[in-house]
Parts: sequence; structure tokens; C-alpha cells
Amino acid sequence: MITIDGPSGAGKTTVSKRLAEVLGMVRLDTGAMYRACALAAERAGVPWDDAARLGELARGMELSFRNAGGARRVFLGDEDVTESIRTPGMSMGASAVSAHGPVREALVAKQREMGRDGGVVLEGRDTGTVVFPDAEAKFFLDAAAAVRALRRHSETGSSGGQTFEEVFRDVLRRDAHDSTRRHSPLKIADGAIYIDSTTLSVDEVVEAMRRRIHGHAG
Ligand code: C5P
Repeated sequence: MITIDGPSGAGKTTVSKRLAEVLGMVRLDTGAMYRACALAAERAGVPWDDAARLGELARGMELSFRNAGGARRVFLGDEDVTESIRTPGMSMGASAVSAHGPVREALVAKQREMGRDGGVVLEGRDTGTVVFPDAEAKFFLDAAAAVRALRRHSETGSSGGQTFEEVFRDVLRRDAHDSTRRHSPLKIADGAIYIDSTTLSVDEVVEAMRRRIHGHAG
């Protein structure tokens, strides 16, 4: 079990995909689950601040990850929502719904179930602190906020037509929200290895992780 936590734009998605590939493991994108919950809530007319109803919705949500055309897609029931959950609106929605205890309980239970057999690279905000605190290797991936915003902005399609300033503002707002919330705030897990990717390439980060993992395995 490997966990990678950190703020948005630190490179968790790219790095976890590559690491899972190199190690022959499965990747679990926990952020996609909070995004799907925000989308399901919007569709059901449940406000993003209604903790009790959101918890119920998260528990009953038919969420799955399926492989299609070599990529891992996110499904709500039979609908492929991979693209619909990637909008700036759903980024803020995910940050809002994920602050509620009942939502976290429901989704953490699903994540533990999905990762039960091991061989999984989890990425998110609390995967090393809460979901699998006993994971064999835990990483906290960070980068300077301006660089994270720049990466988000240059990801074609995912910046949703926002200017750099708007992306930067959203990144700062989401960071503040994720790290100051009462339930499972973003923080470095005990025993986690801190990696600052500000000046590192994806290959360099993956290589640094691989060295630590193999070192751990002896
Ligand atoms: O990683 P991603 O940007 O897709 O996550 C969207 C939002 O979901 C984050 O800003 C955070 O509020 C929430 N999240 C969380 N715990 C996780 C993963 C994501 O609270 N393990």
C-alpha cells in the first residue's frame, strides 16, 4: 500500500499514475470520489452545506472506476462522469462536500473496501493520515503555490477557460479550506516522506519515490 497526499497541483495525479504503472499496482484517485459526490449532490438538488443529506447521498452513491480504452474512467451508476467532475465548479464543490464528517466517513469506508487487498497507490488529502495510516510507504507531495497554479492552468481542458489569476486564486482558496477544516485536514502523515516537486520533473519525483520504496522493502 502506497499513499500520496498533498495540495492541488502538486503533481499527485501524474505521479501516482506513473508510479502505479512502474510498480504494476492499481491507482485509487480519492479526489474523484469527492468530486463525484459534489456532482451527484448538484443533480439531486442537495446543497453542498447539508452535511446529513450529503452523507446519505455519499453512502448510497453507486460509484465505480472502470478501465476503458487504456484509461481509468469514473462512473456514477452507468454514466461516465470522468469529464463532468473535472470542471472548476466541481473542484470547489468537492472541497465543500469533503469538509463534512458524514461524507468523509462514507467515502473513507468505500476507499478501505476498494484497497482491502493491497497493491494500491492512493492519492488524496488524507490517505496516509486517515484511510491507510499503516501503509508501507507514505508520501506528501508539495510544490510552491504559484507553480501548482501554473501546472493547473496549463493542463489543457481542465483549467476550464480560467485565467491564470483565477486558477491561482482557486488553488489558494481550496488549499486554505482543505488544510483548516475540522475533519481530516490536509497535513503530513506520521512517517510520511516529504517531497517538494517545485523544481523536479515527473521522472525525478517518481524515481525519488521508487528509491524510498525499495529502500523500505530492504
Ligand atoms: O485531488 P482533487 O483536486 O481531485 O480533490 C478535490 C477535492 O476533494 C480537494 O480539494 C479536497 O477538498 C477533497 N479531497 C479530500 N480528501 C481526499 C481527496 C480529495 O478532502 N482524500
